[in-house]
Amino acid sequence: MKRGKTINGWRGPDALSQALRACRASFFVVGMFSLVMNMLILALPLYMLQVYDRVLTTGRVETLAMLTVMAVVALLFLGIIDALRSGIMVRMGRWVSASVAPVFLASSVDARLKGDDSGAQPLRDLSVVQNFIGGSGMTFLFDTPMVPLFVAVVWLLHPYLGMIALGTAALLFLLSVLNDVMTRRAVLEGNVSQIRANLQAEATIRNAEVVQALGMLPAMVDRWRSVSTQSLDANQKGAERSGMIVAFTKALRLTVQIGVLCTGALLVLDGQLTAGGMIAGSILTARALAPVEQAVTAWKAFIATRIAYGRLKTRLAMLPPDTERMTLPAPTGRLSVEGATFTPPGRRRPILCRISFAVEPGEVLAVVGPSAAGKSTLARLLVGLYHPTAGKIRLDGADLSMWNPNQLGRYIGYLPQDVELFNGSVRDNIARMTSGSDEDVVKAAQLAQAHEMILGLSDGYDTEIGDAGAKLSGGQRQRIGLARAVYGTPVLMVLDEPNANLDQAGEAALAGAVEELKQRGAAMIIIGHRPSTLAHADNILLLKEGVAAMYGPRDEVLQQLKRNTVTTTRRENNANQVQAAEPNEGTAENAEAESQVKFGLGSSPGTRLPSQQPRHGSN
Ligand code: ATP
Repeated sequence: MKRGKTINGWRGPDALSQALRACRASFFVVGMFSLVMNMLILALPLYMLQVYDRVLTTGRVETLAMLTVMAVVALLFLGIIDALRSGIMVRMGRWVSASVAPVFLASSVDARLKGDDSGAQPLRDLSVVQNFIGGSGMTFLFDTPMVPLFVAVVWLLHPYLGMIALGTAALLFLLSVLNDVMTRRAVLEGNVSQIRANLQAEATIRNAEVVQALGMLPAMVDRWRSVSTQSLDANQKGAERSGMIVAFTKALRLTVQIGVLCTGALLVLDGQLTAGGMIAGSILTARALAPVEQAVTAWKAFIATRIAYGRLKTRLAMLPPDTERMTLPAPTGRLSVEGATFTPPGRRRPILCRISFAVEPGEVLAVVGPSAAGKSTLARLLVGLYHPTAGKIRLDGADLSMWNPNQLGRYIGYLPQDVELFNGSVRDNIARMTSGSDEDVVKAAQLAQAHEMILGLSDGYDTEIGDAGAKLSGGQRQRIGLARAVYGTPVLMVLDEPNANLDQAGEAALAGAVEELKQRGAAMIIIGHRPSTLAHADNILLLKEGVAAMYGPRDEVLQQLKRNTVTTTRRENNANQVQAAEPNEGTAENAEAESQVKFGLGSSPGTRLPSQQPRHGSN
């Protein structure tokens, strides 16, 4: 497994830690700035000390002026360094996020293919981490190590004051631990429920049409509310507990400040401390306790960040090994499927079992079969979305898993059952969302015979099609999907029911495109039942319950199907005559039409036609 930095950022299971490690120098600078800032903050108590003890007692205005200038300059520097520090942290947060975001987007796509439905949650988690690094939440981590410095200075003013500051700091630290123990579980529960509620809300919005048309909105709102309420309850519980501790912390800090002034006053009366020392002690104690108090206040954000970070690490650990693939020579489109079996995770029975066939360049294989026979699953295997559990799928002799997925994609034309277009223009979609040349886009549209239809749209190729092509008709989506599939003239075409939404003109255009692609030497696999699909097929594969029930040259498979259908129809006719003596409408003439809907019903799984000789592997 190779890891490292890609042009898009870090990758591999350590991507996040690597990106954070790469920020070490910036963290160091932020640490140094924090140290200097905390030194400069001492200017205020020192100023107080000097004004009370030197200026007020001597009445020297020049001393006051000089002290004031020095204090103002110090505080000015403090402001500048503070601004620089927060600027660096904001940029660090942004840099870390931008460096690893591509890997999390890719991981979300990979997880989705494996059935995970958490959507873009990793990117939301990354935002939480980014905000924590770039926001005020993280500054307490840099300021807390300075607490002993301030306590030490207070101690130097007078040990009694130092003891009060130290004791309070320890108490506040215990309170922050208590805060963690009391709120961690609630924050986690709230966080998980919030994710579920968001996913539910997104699904409801995505399926707005059906939700509205079928009057499902109240039911969907109820479902969302029940999950959302869990999140609100947990968040409320966490916030109430945390709020209690934060309120107590604030009260404690203010009380301690009175305590310091009171003790200081007693020490002044006793002659052990000056009035300036008393005021400086009060300011320094407040400063010493500020980071600890800030930690208690920011703890909720800290826990949320820790949870998000943990989830991101888990997601990275689930990433498949990032293997660098050699670039193979451009394939010619020789596809061979050798005993391919596919069982998805969590399912015992395979969806596809020992499927074998071959498609040569310029050949068309029609895949037919009843619903849930495994046709779309086969299509996904052929384009490398799924990997066979057993057996091989080869393109020009190389197992699909040997190909670099990005390289392979250029040679594949895939039109899924749900066309899956993206928000953008027709042009963007045909160019597979790249900035490919206009010439290639038009060429693809012409090859798919969709050029005229696209010119008829309001803005032609620049027409914005909306989310998932919502502004197009089903047939238009399918034709633009076909143009996208043929973009770049791929050598392997997999079309899953490409004519499901097409009218007669669309069917004719599809037929023309298939014929043209055949001429150009593409290997084509077309899933579908309509006669127009079968008309161009050289071979037919009949799938039934995941096995190849028939496979062979088109005419032989159709003949066999016809025979099976006629036999089945006669058997049904005889049975009907015996039962009801009613006239039967089933005849040999309509057998072919019936065969379209009865594919596979008359043949037993595994029927092999005489001329069926798979070129690679066997069933
Ligand atoms: P149709 O003609 O209705 O589109 P199909 O032949 O394309 O059907 P597939 O979509 O391949 O059928 O599904 C075949 C079977 O595999 C179905 O029973 C389906 O429930 C199951 N199936 C598909 N994908 C998965 C998956 N990722 N996990 C578990 N089961 C799955």
